[in-house]
Amino acid sequence: MTENALTVHQTARPTGFPTAAHFRLVESPVPEPAPGTALVAGLYWSVDPYHREMMDGDFALDAPLEGRTLGRVVASRAPSLPEGQLVVHRRGWRTHAVVRPEEVRRIPHHPGVPLSAYLSVLGGTGLTAYVALTRIARLREGEDLFVSGAAGGVGTATGRFARLLGAGRLTGSTGSPEKVGYLTGQVGYDAAFDYRTAPVADLLAGAAPDGIDLFVDNVGGDHLGAAIGALRERGRVVRVGTISQYNTPDAPAVVFDHAGVVERSLRIEGFLVRDHQDAQEELYDFAVPHLRSGALVADETVVDGFERIVEAFLLMLHGGNTGKILVRAV
Ligand code: NAP
Repeated sequence: MTENALTVHQTARPTGFPTAAHFRLVESPVPEPAPGTALVAGLYWSVDPYHREMMDGDFALDAPLEGRTLGRVVASRAPSLPEGQLVVHRRGWRTHAVVRPEEVRRIPHHPGVPLSAYLSVLGGTGLTAYVALTRIARLREGEDLFVSGAAGGVGTATGRFARLLGAGRLTGSTGSPEKVGYLTGQVGYDAAFDYRTAPVADLLAGAAPDGIDLFVDNVGGDHLGAAIGALRERGRVVRVGTISQYNTPDAPAVVFDHAGVVERSLRIEGFLVRDHQDAQEELYDFAVPHLRSGALVADETVVDGFERIVEAFLLMLHGGNTGKILVRAV
């Protein structure tokens, strides 16, 4: 192998939105696998909102960032990881990673399924949407949903899964008129609005005038307060994420109808997908046949070139993606 390996390091802690100046691309020789390990060359990388949260302290400075990567074993000294094996690992924003067998998830072979889907609708993003609907919300047929951050990775998967699971009316929020059109024209939402144009409570009242049974919340803030106001009796909120606050930690506290939570017997529950990895096979069983038949589509924004991984991450934080954002090796 003559090429060098590239790794991204965080070099400083951001206040508010990060910029390219908070990162550095580091070049080094491609590592050699030691006995019991294998060398994986990255094919797709996931950049995620939680990376922004980790930049505040969890990521060590001047060290490689962690994150989900899909790659192929290109050299092996571990019999259970033969050359050519496709795997997902968490060793992050680097072109090459040396991994132990217990650190990886092997990618199954489902003919007709694109590789990128294993990091989007069949990966952690799809699993989050699936767990939100089936395990946390326990969605019942005909129930009406509101999804915030509806045009992103989790939001598009939530809309498409909910439709396949027999949900009733689907309402979504997003940050641009183009994405509103995408939600209703492509993803299958019945109504959508641009949350930047008016107070969320007013926009939601217009888009879902008869109320909602379930709110899948990727955003928090005003969206949460508005949705609690729109929930019917025994309605549920599934708290998935709080992206409205990752770059503005001093945002004002959410104002919501506390008494209404009691009077309408509402339930608010959050979860972390890492505690539901046992649902992965169930997700494959549910989603793969739909992907093959065309009833399910993997919504993705793909940025070409590992060197552009920071650009892709910043694009996502500013709403430049539709569906799951991925970086692809070229
Ligand atoms: P994503 O939705 O594909 O990308 C982030 C999106 O957030 C952007 O495209 C942008 O779209 C929106 N956004 C940015 N700033 C915003 C703001 N101030 N207010 C409202 N929307 C804003 O990302 P994802 O990976 O699917 O993640 C979505 C959410 O799920 C995040 O909160 C993430 O932390 C959470 N999550 C949680 C788990 C878990 O285990 N609980 C797992 C995965 C993800 P717009 O153009 O619409 O603004």
